[in-house]
Amino acid sequence: MLTPAQAARRALPSVDRLLKSEAVGDLIARYGRPLVVETVRALLDEQRAAIAASGESQASFDEAAFITACGAQLAAQTRPSLRRVFNLTGTVLHTNLGRALMPKSVAEAVAAAMTHPVNLEFDLGGGARGERDSHVERWLRRLTGAEAAIVVNNNAAAVYLTLNTLASRKEVLVSRGELIEIGGAFRMPDIMARAGCKLVEVGTTNRTHLADYASAISPRTAAIMKVHASNYSIEGFTAAVGEPDLAGLAHEHRLPFIVDLGSGMLIDLEDYGLPHEPTPHETLAHGADLVTFSGDKLLGGPQAGLVVGKKDLVARLKKNPLKRALRVDKMTLAALEAVLRLYSNPERLEAELPTLRWLTRPLADIEAQAARVLPHVAAALAGRAEASLVSCSSQIGSGSLPVDLLPSVGIAIGGGAKRRHSLAEGFAAAFRALPVPVIGRINEGAFIMDLRCLDDEAGFIAQLGELKIEKSIATENTEFTERIVNRQDAKSAKKNEAGETG
Ligand SMILES: *Cc1c(COP(=O)(O)O)cnc(C)c1O
Repeated sequence: MLTPAQAARRALPSVDRLLKSEAVGDLIARYGRPLVVETVRALLDEQRAAIAASGESQASFDEAAFITACGAQLAAQTRPSLRRVFNLTGTVLHTNLGRALMPKSVAEAVAAAMTHPVNLEFDLGGGARGERDSHVERWLRRLTGAEAAIVVNNNAAAVYLTLNTLASRKEVLVSRGELIEIGGAFRMPDIMARAGCKLVEVGTTNRTHLADYASAISPRTAAIMKVHASNYSIEGFTAAVGEPDLAGLAHEHRLPFIVDLGSGMLIDLEDYGLPHEPTPHETLAHGADLVTFSGDKLLGGPQAGLVVGKKDLVARLKKNPLKRALRVDKMTLAALEAVLRLYSNPERLEAELPTLRWLTRPLADIEAQAARVLPHVAAALAGRAEASLVSCSSQIGSGSLPVDLLPSVGIAIGGGAKRRHSLAEGFAAAFRALPVPVIGRINEGAFIMDLRCLDDEAGFIAQLGELKIEKSIATENTEFTERIVNRQDAKSAKKNEAGETG
C-alpha cells in the first residue's frame, strides 16, 4: 500500500514532462515561459496537497483537465487590471469610473502621438525648440478670451502651481463658505498649506461680504481667491461676493484675483437645455486674473488642469520649477487638442462629444431603450428576481451642478415591499462579475441600472446570458413580488453609491 503522499507523487507528472506537451507549448507561445512554468508548478502543488489530504492511496491525473485549468488561470492572471465597464450609475462624469469619455477621433489623435514621433517641444517653422503647451494654448485663448494658458496634470495641480507661484510664504484670502473638500483628498486648506501659503479665512460659512475681504487685506496678502463650491450648495440665508466686486477690490490693492472654477465649461450649457455652469470666459470678463479648471469634467477631455488668464502671471507659472513636475505628457496633449478643436464647431459638439451627448440625452430616448433592454434583463434573471422600469435621476457628477438632477429611466432589480440592502448588493455583485462589469447603484434596497449612459446596448444584452445570481440571493428574493413602477428616486440619487463626487 502506498501512503497518500506517495500516491500523489506517483500520480502526478513532473513539471518538465508537462512543459514538453504540445498543449502546454501552446500556452507558452501565448503567455511566455516564466508565467506558464509558475502556473504549472502552483497547480501541481495544489493537486499534490489535495491528493495527500484526501487520504486515498489510488490517485489519478487528468492531463487535459489540468491544462485547461492552467489556461484558465493564465487568462485570469493576464487579464488587464484596468478594464472597460458599463457605467450605469447615473453619474455621467464618474470620477471612480474615469470621468469623461472621448470620441474615436480623439482616440486616434492619441494613438498617433503614441506610435509616432511628434513635434511635442519642437517648432516646425524654425526647427528649434518649441513649447509643449503651445499645442493647446491657442485653442484655450480663443475659447476663453484669455491672454495665455498652461496645462498641468489636473485641476488640483493647477491650483497648487498657481498658489505656489503667486503666494508662497504669503497670505491668500478665501471665504469660509468656499473651503471645500472634493473627493480623493483634495481639500482647499491642505492644498494651500502644501503650496506654502497661509490661508486667511474670510466671513462665515453661509455669509461673506466684501467688507470681510477688505478688512482682511494686509501687507502679507498675495492674492484673493474664489473657489467654486462644486460638490455642495449652501441654501437659505446666504451671501457671497460676486466676481466683479472681488476683482475690483483685489486690483485696488494691486493683488491678483484667482478663481478655481473646478469644472468650468467652455460653452453655455443653457444653450443645450442644461443648468448654467460658469465659464472661464465669463469669469475672466468679470476681472479674474487667473482661472483654473479641469480638463475631464464638463469640458469632456482627458485628465488635465488648465490655467488661463493674464500673460505675465501665466509666464510666472511657466517658470516655476514645479511646472516640470506637474506637466502633462504627449498623449494628454494630443487628446486635449483634439477635444478643444471640437469646440470650434458648437453645432457639431453635441454629436461629437460623449459627455455632452449623455447629459442632453432626451428622456424619451432613454425610456425607449429601457423598454427594449428590460425583457432581456428579466430573461437573464430567469424568474429568480423581479426587474422593472423605474424613473430615476442622473447627476452630472465630478462636483458639477450637484443639486441639478436629470430625469432618467432605469431598470430596478429586487426592491418592492421588503427591500433589503444585502439582496441588492448581491445583484450588484452579480452584474459586476459579468465579462464587461456593469456598475449600477443601490437605492432603497433595489439594485438600479440607470440607462442614460448605456452606449453599447447590443454588447450589454449579449453578455446577460453569463449572469450568475447566487442561489442564496435568489431564494431570499422570492419574498419580493411587488413591482416598483415609476417610483421617483430623485432624493436618494443624491446619496449615490457612486462614491467620490469630486
Ligand atoms: C474637481 C475640482 C478640483 C480638482 O480637480 P481635479 O481635476 O479633479 O484635480 C479642484 N477644485 C474644484 C473647485 C473642483 O471642483
